[in-house]
Amino acid sequence: MQGCTLQEGSLGRSPLIELSVVLGGARRQGRGENLRVMSPVTGEQLASGPAAGSDDIEEALALAVGALPGLRRLGRDRRCDLLQGVADELAGDEARLSELLTLEQGKPLPQAREEVADAIRMLRHTAEEGRRLADAPPILADTTKRAMLIREAIGVVASITPWNFPLAIPIEHLAPALAMGNAVVFKPAETTALTGVALCDAFLAAGWPPGALACLSGGGAVGAELAAHPDVDMICFTGSSETGHIVAGVGAGKELLLELGGNGPTIVFADADLDRAAEGIASACFYAAGQSCAATERILVEEGVLDDLTIRLAKQAEQTAVGDPREEATALGPLHTAELAAKVDRHVQGAQAAGATVICGGRIDPSRPTPLYFPATVVSGVPPDCELFREETFGPVAALTPFRDETEALRLAELGSYGLVASIWTRDLPRALRLADAVPNGNVNINEHSNYWELSLPFGGAPRRSSGVGRIGGEETLRRMSTIRTIVIDSRG
Ligand code: ADP
Repeated sequence: MQGCTLQEGSLGRSPLIELSVVLGGARRQGRGENLRVMSPVTGEQLASGPAAGSDDIEEALALAVGALPGLRRLGRDRRCDLLQGVADELAGDEARLSELLTLEQGKPLPQAREEVADAIRMLRHTAEEGRRLADAPPILADTTKRAMLIREAIGVVASITPWNFPLAIPIEHLAPALAMGNAVVFKPAETTALTGVALCDAFLAAGWPPGALACLSGGGAVGAELAAHPDVDMICFTGSSETGHIVAGVGAGKELLLELGGNGPTIVFADADLDRAAEGIASACFYAAGQSCAATERILVEEGVLDDLTIRLAKQAEQTAVGDPREEATALGPLHTAELAAKVDRHVQGAQAAGATVICGGRIDPSRPTPLYFPATVVSGVPPDCELFREETFGPVAALTPFRDETEALRLAELGSYGLVASIWTRDLPRALRLADAVPNGNVNINEHSNYWELSLPFGGAPRRSSGVGRIGGEETLRRMSTIRTIVIDSRG
């Protein structure tokens, strides 16, 4: 069977299917090294076949360069229509895509459905924003002149994406890039290549020109070759800080949009509504098994309420059902990879060795089909010098560290190298605003958990931190993925 579409209702069995790339408007076999896609849910092989090779990269880029004049002629209005068409395609395929996401990525089915719905909303939102985006020319000192500002594409965009949201994150790149008239060569994470190909299918079915979008299934080497290629004008990368910095290095001189790791602080003061805080924090710790750059990881708690919050979080953790993500009642599926499971385990054990107390969870469940099922975990009294505090854990772990006063809270919040989302819980609004201004984070949610975000809100890392550059969300991204040509006319003829 050509391609990699899982049949509807195929969740119970895992068909062995052939991996493909999408090139020139059709699925094809890649010309690179063999790649296997395994299910973290069952441990079975979902697909295998040759990944993209150098010839595929060259061909995709030549087609992308060739597609640029046609994309320009289409115009932004029509391109936004085509994005609405992709949304319609995904909406018509919601059940199959959700099942594929669950089997390939490992997230519980209700969360997979949410991701498909988010991707659809994102496409529609970008189409609407794309139509509205306008640039007013300035008033000129020279009254004989008139100025025009023409917003146009940057050129060829390489989109390199991770496995945690294999549908929604690519849409965050692809929709604004294509709306603004760029051509995109997309490299999905190697472990979620099937979802990547399925997404490209939807774009092509909606009528995007064949060269406008390619999907190069493959590993880091494909991403590295793509990022360094002279025909790539812009790199959109979402992934780890470590890889993001490598990509920024090889992509020197190109436009960059980098969404990298996060380990933002959640700061809880004694005057906060602890019930609301615990509920919000638990959801942001355990949603998607904590595998989100905005997930809540380290929680700084005013010392008088440390035990109160710990108990509340432990209750929430115990109610977070771990299990087969294909079952509706499951809230927590497997972690995505063995490397990640080893890291989460190391962080928790390291904190324990440094004096923290594991209140609940803390160990992989050995009774599951893969050694990737990590239960919702609460660790209290985490010292600030251990990995669980300083590094991005990317697992379902709530790590609590006490502080005495606002000064100490800020000092602890500043530790580590990340700067994505901070969350502050207090009824003292002046204090909340003081801290919101002071913390080194690109996004701050007050009396709301760290995972809260809406498409219209700019999202990204703070300067001088290792969480990335540029913003995802709304108009900001459309502007970042385009450039302005300024034309001046002298009215004297
Ligand atoms: P993780 O460690 O969570 O898998 P990465 O940041 O390594 O995250 O991966 C994110 C994306 O970057 C994936 O698509 C991956 O294949 C790709 N990638 C990995 N290494 C490189 C590299 N050196 N250059 C470009 N892309 C890379």
